[in-house]
Amino acid sequence: MKGEHLLDARPHQYDNTGTETSNHVKENNMTKTTTTFPFACTYGCDNCRPLDVTTELYVGGLYVRADGYSDCCSQDGYGQQVVIENRHGVPHVIIWADINDEDPTHIVSLAGAAESERRVT
Ligand SMILES: [Zn+2]
Repeated sequence: MKGEHLLDARPHQYDNTGTETSNHVKENNMTKTTTTFPFACTYGCDNCRPLDVTTELYVGGLYVRADGYSDCCSQDGYGQQVVIENRHGVPHVIIWADINDEDPTHIVSLAGAAESERRVT
């Protein structure tokens, strides 16, 4: 699982104008859409540096990396910290929050967020 996304790791692409960039490439017979967007600090600070966040959308999942962050088995400038994927029809969020740990630190099933699980009041 970890190795799968490493095969497709590529440097993210972005410009320096603070605007979203997006490109579509096809590799290994899979179409990949890469988008980079500068995220301002959620708390509205003026001094915090924006994070360039890159998403790579494959048929098998959505991969997310933040510029300056990587994962255990990837070189700096590569690697993802978050993957959203379909596991038997249930979206799961897999997180590598520790660059020194090859295994995910969090695997979150969103099964409990299914609309069918809403309590009727
Ligand atoms: Zn801030």
